[in-house]
Amino acid sequence: MAKRVVMLGPPGAGKGTQAKRLAKHLGVPHVSSGDIFRENLREKTELGRTAEAYMKRGELVPDDVTIAMIRERLSRPDCREGVVLDGFPRTPAQAEALDAMLQELYQARVDLAPLIEVPEEVLVERLTGRRSCPNGHVYHLTFNPPKEAGKCDHDGLELFQREDDRPETVLNRIQVYNRQTQPLIDFYDQRGVLARINGNQPIEAVSAELFAALEKA
Ligand code: ADP
Ligand code: AMP
Repeated sequence: MAKRVVMLGPPGAGKGTQAKRLAKHLGVPHVSSGDIFRENLREKTELGRTAEAYMKRGELVPDDVTIAMIRERLSRPDCREGVVLDGFPRTPAQAEALDAMLQELYQARVDLAPLIEVPEEVLVERLTGRRSCPNGHVYHLTFNPPKEAGKCDHDGLELFQREDDRPETVLNRIQVYNRQTQPLIDFYDQRGVLARINGNQPIEAVSAELFAALEKA
């Protein structure tokens, strides 16, 4: 079964939600570049300070910084048997770098790149209603509310709205995706690993489609 998975799709498509479930199912780590950046931001590391201005505007953090960060994460032993990547790669240069890294570290390649497809107007609703916990668990005010308002079901931490989920930044993030990340669809299609998944259905139904694609890969 596919063990090295790259989640593709626009911001708000449900990559994180599905990546968590998939990683659990496969017994491999879920590696979210956005989560790692946010953790560095909170801890005020040098990486966090570098990333902050880009993230606030909804722009991409430069490739060299992002690639170095992911290389460090993928080098850790827990990634040896597989990984579900979420939010990386986001540019053709990152995708090329990932291929080289997987080859060098594990003599392996990307097995599956599920593309979660959702119409643009749905994305805006999903992003502006998203609420997050500091440990990366994600909810939606309407579509996936926590059991107790404002509190994470898993760890009881207070939920917050990401600064870049405010309406002014959301549209820019979608444009950045269209401009810089969409070319990756062809990149993975040409390698024969792309799987189109209908993301505009309930979370369980998306997972069912995703897991079925995994069985076939
Ligand atoms: P991404 O990682 O692609 O940015 P998320 O997984 O964080 O997306 O999901 C964005 C928002 O949409 C979250 O608030 C999440 O709870 C909600 N969501 C995810 N999948 C679905 C779905 N299938 N239907 C409705 N809402 C969803
Ligand atoms: P996400 O949590 O995936 O929505 O990412 C939040 C923000 O982190 C993005 O808008 C970017 O500023 C930054 N980021 C996350 N992943 C990457 C990446 N692969 N390349 C560049 N910037 C990224």
